[in-house]
Amino acid sequence: MGQLTLSAVRKSYAPLEIIKGVNLEVRDGEFMVFVGPSGCGKSTLLRMIAGLEEITAGDIHIDGQRVNDLPPVKRGIAMVFQSYALYPHMSVFENIAFPLRVEKLPEDKIKSQVEQAARVLHLESRLQQRPGQLSGGQRQRVAIGRAIVRHPKIFLFDEPLSNLDAALRADMRIELARLHKQLAATMIYVTHDQIEAMTMADRIVVLNGGVIAQVGAPLELYHKPADLFVATFIGNPRMNLLPVTAVASDGAGMTVDYRGQRVTLPVAARPTEPGTALTLGIRPDHVQIGPADLALSLKPTVIERLGPQTVAYASTEAGDGFCALLPGMAGVRVDEPMLAGVRVTDCHLFDAVGRAYERSIDLSQMDAGLLRPAVAA
Ligand code: ADP
Ligand code: MG
Repeated sequence: MGQLTLSAVRKSYAPLEIIKGVNLEVRDGEFMVFVGPSGCGKSTLLRMIAGLEEITAGDIHIDGQRVNDLPPVKRGIAMVFQSYALYPHMSVFENIAFPLRVEKLPEDKIKSQVEQAARVLHLESRLQQRPGQLSGGQRQRVAIGRAIVRHPKIFLFDEPLSNLDAALRADMRIELARLHKQLAATMIYVTHDQIEAMTMADRIVVLNGGVIAQVGAPLELYHKPADLFVATFIGNPRMNLLPVTAVASDGAGMTVDYRGQRVTLPVAARPTEPGTALTLGIRPDHVQIGPADLALSLKPTVIERLGPQTVAYASTEAGDGFCALLPGMAGVRVDEPMLAGVRVTDCHLFDAVGRAYERSIDLSQMDAGLLRPAVAA
């Protein structure tokens, strides 16, 4: 078992409050990702779960037991850090075996556990080498091995891949997802990288300034961001934001005006004073060439050709910055105006304080298996 509950958890480094009341339930066996900008409190929250940091207020329960006052070793957790924290003078075998030696396990038990972890992590041929002889990815696997042999209820990872180059990060993402499947363990994974969050998580917790902005499956956050912060944090290139004014709210949704053009968006209407300033959100990947419900005349200023996709950074006739992600070798050129269209069903709408109007897209009607990343064991 590895179920975790955080209740009204707070942390202050006087006079600053860093974690401002976090409530969260992590299910047994779940791969939960904490994501958010640098300094938002991800590591602090993880260290409080681990017991490396005292909590200022609130409660932490693991499998129903209150662990506020339990030292780290008694919590049944294992933590893997960005800096691998390996012993350079010890072999890979001894690095992985270290927690078992501390527990004074018999030699044959240690050997079988280390070998089992090495098999899972494809490190069998490296056991007699020193960390200095390994690549960054292999070193991180040794650090994970040291966590695995402890059979923790919950694995905690703090940006474990941030030191690796991009190609290796992509490989390790897949390995970690597979490891999660094999071990069926609860994992909490901290990253500032939204791609890591989207590709590995069962659910993502988006943190902003010490509070949870939203918790949900990756595609839930993509399709139904709760506010402007989540909307612009999840998705790459980031969501375009255009200033609009409210015209009417009724059963059909919200009618808004973008610089003289009126569209009705299928979102849950809220009584909104006509003329109220709102924000229209459009993901670059929802822009098509040619007219649609909303038509925009764009003038590209920068074009990036990635091969499978073309990214056009442009401005609208009104001078609002706007990015379009187009499939393949789109025939767009710098300084040549292009007509772009967006379907109203793809639009997002936010109120003056940045809260999203609920979109009518019904994720519960979608195949649940399609909402999450998946990997074969
Ligand atoms: P993240 O991991 O999301 O980048 P951290 O949890 O490391 O953020 O830090 C959150 C905030 O808490 C930062 O502003 C950081 O400066 C502050 N902080 C972290 N540890 C301490 C400490 N020991 N004393 C004072 N402030 C701290
Ligand atoms: Mg951190």
